Amino acid sequence: MSSLTQTLHKGLRHLVGSRPAAVPGYRLFDLELRQRIALSPSLTRLVFSGTDLGQMNTLAPDQRVKLFFPAPDGSLPSLPNDQHWKATLNALPPPQRPAMRTYTIRALRRESLEVDVDFVLHGVNGPASAWATHAKIGDRLQMLAPNLDCGDDPGGYEWKPPQGLCNVLLVGDETALPAIAGMLEQLADEQPSLAVEAFIEVPYEADCLPLRHSAATRLHWLPREMLQCQHGEAMLHAVRELANLPQAQPAPAARLEEVNLDKRMLWDRSSTHHSAFYAWVAGESTAVMDIRRYMIKERGLPRDCLTLMGYWRAGRTSD
Ligand SMILES: Cc1cc2nc3c(=O)[nH]c(=O)nc-3n(C[C@H](O)[C@H](O)[C@H](O)COP(=O)(O)OP(=O)(O)OC[C@H]3O[C@@H](n4cnc5c(N)ncnc54)[C@H](O)[C@@H]3O)c2cc1C
Repeated sequence: MSSLTQTLHKGLRHLVGSRPAAVPGYRLFDLELRQRIALSPSLTRLVFSGTDLGQMNTLAPDQRVKLFFPAPDGSLPSLPNDQHWKATLNALPPPQRPAMRTYTIRALRRESLEVDVDFVLHGVNGPASAWATHAKIGDRLQMLAPNLDCGDDPGGYEWKPPQGLCNVLLVGDETALPAIAGMLEQLADEQPSLAVEAFIEVPYEADCLPLRHSAATRLHWLPREMLQCQHGEAMLHAVRELANLPQAQPAPAARLEEVNLDKRMLWDRSSTHHSAFYAWVAGESTAVMDIRRYMIKERGLPRDCLTLMGYWRAGRTSD
């Protein structure tokens, strides 16, 4: 080996050996409930504070996070704020294991160390909704959220509008309302002339919140009680009959594999970087499955411009 090659090898070893450990994309945050804001009969905003919130990041309006609620035996979540949190969680006996659920960051205010999460209060039949229903100022939980210190994109969001857009379709139920509200705000600020159609299904008329959006947005509320329909029916009807979908393709019964919701979540991600049309759909899984069938099988819409996600499933816990 020449002396130049030896020097290069030595330099390389030195560089590799001295590389700092990778900063994790996500980390745990200890939170305390600071404020409750009743937004409507079904939605309550919980404002959390935390001394580390200056290190939290959010990358898109549908940024998802994991919340850890008190365990079945009542013990508070106290997972370590390091890379061992998952091993610690799995090693806990089930009665002491905190319940984990997925939520959306509605707003993050790093300067005042506050983060907002909008909870659907669907009863006390699940640990998250039960906690949110009864939580008092000062109650604590933990959140797994993007780490500002991580220079890379840690993901955890699906709102990726492609280039060349002319038409955006947003469809969701009350669990997707926090994400859609953020998207409408972002579009109003960044692409105010883009044609946007949003259909949001909610339980009651009083859940139709004033959302900030552009003048080019057509926002349609679908309150189930008023429309006298079951969960998901109004969203499907809206996509079938009201939405401005691109010209139907002559679809010779497009092939579409069904998702077995007993085995996995419905989670179709768009993949195109350039498209005139883009749809983001989220809500109860069976309802989103129906919408998926209609858009792809019946209308022959290209899958690469569709994001379709089952956020929860009627009659099933998200455990
Ligand atoms: C990416 C992502 C983002 C999400 N963001 C939010 C958010 O910002 N706000 C929000 O409220 N939810 C959000 N959800 C949905 C939330 O995670 C589920 O609703 C979750 O099931 C709530 O947990 P739980 O402990 O209350 O009920 P579980 O223990 O999961 O379920 C108990 C029972 O309640 C029923 N149930 C669950 N959710 C609902 C509901 N919304 N309405 C009626 N019945 C229900 C279940 O079918 C089951 O019968 C999000 C989900 C995902 C995947």
